[in-house]
Amino acid sequence: MPEISKLYLGEEHFEAVKRNSSAQWLFTAEDSIEQHALSFGELGNALLVALRENNVVADVKYVLSASRAPFQAVYLPARALYVVVSDVNACVDLISLCAKSTMLSHVATMLETKPVAPSGVYTGLSLVEICRLFMSDEETQYGDVVAGRMVFTSALMYAFGHELAHIFNGHLALQSDPKFASINPDQGQEYLTQRTLEINADRFGAGWAFEVGENMLKQMLIKVYADLDSHERTRVAFAHRVRYIVGVFIASLYSDARLENHFSPRYPRSYQRFIVALRELRDSIAHYDRSARNLPEHVREVLARSFAEIAGNIDNLRHPLARNAIWIAGEGDVRQDYLESAAEVTIKSLEPAERRWTVLLPHLSQHRIGRPLSESLIPR
Ligand SMILES: [Zn+2]
Repeated sequence: MPEISKLYLGEEHFEAVKRNSSAQWLFTAEDSIEQHALSFGELGNALLVALRENNVVADVKYVLSASRAPFQAVYLPARALYVVVSDVNACVDLISLCAKSTMLSHVATMLETKPVAPSGVYTGLSLVEICRLFMSDEETQYGDVVAGRMVFTSALMYAFGHELAHIFNGHLALQSDPKFASINPDQGQEYLTQRTLEINADRFGAGWAFEVGENMLKQMLIKVYADLDSHERTRVAFAHRVRYIVGVFIASLYSDARLENHFSPRYPRSYQRFIVALRELRDSIAHYDRSARNLPEHVREVLARSFAEIAGNIDNLRHPLARNAIWIAGEGDVRQDYLESAAEVTIKSLEPAERRWTVLLPHLSQHRIGRPLSESLIPR
């Protein structure tokens, strides 16, 4: 682990990071290796690959913490240092959630793995409540080694990628720029900017999970499945893509399950975030393989059906994965039904953020340390 050890935050920065995050405690590299080797390795590798593939030369570190938020990104301008702070339980929770979800009957059938009925009673529970119970099982490992492992990797890429977007795309640097106040003359505009940046980070996270997933698929097809005929290769590609899509959706469930305030004006609605991730996956996959365009929607439907089975009824889930939950501004109203047209309404509800993105783009471009930024906020 010598290479990833270099990416771990030095103790001389601990106090500054604590002051700028919700972390109550930070673990030293030694403690992390000794007590939390899995998280230390997974997060270190995730950062290493992301820095390399995004051509980032800035100083970006990671650290394990005890904090309310599972993942956070921090910028210390005086030290020209970026840090991804991860709660010490985040990886383990995510593995448990991925493993249990992928063993649900319809999901397992789709992934071609063995279904295992979850222990416990979930009847009448909402999706977020079920996820919280799935997270807290310490005995679960990856489940089916290959499928579960890929689902977890993708979930981590989405969640971790979201934080990296705040760093790579210049969000944090812009927020500490004196110009930030003049771009956002009142609090309403500042909130809109924050929601816009969150949507951009979600899209980046989904795009990053897609990219890592597709790169792995390419490697597998070259190295492991080189002798297969084209029909078999299509099947391998389908199974692999399903896994990384499941991972992204599970990670979005995870962030909802960990979120304490679902109605903060600083954050986009859960459904907006979900639909942005789904569309990013749909459009990216379609770019590679037109026939796989509807795969994310199919995976959503299968996941919803599996959770509905243990909750007793799909209406119990009370989550955008199963039902569009459209938040109507000013009315605080939530409408529940799953319709393609509702997805369109949600995309439309992001228009103010799309306009804000065009205002932010030139400023962010000066601060970005990764690849060039996307011209649009929302996938089209
Ligand atoms: Zn964020």
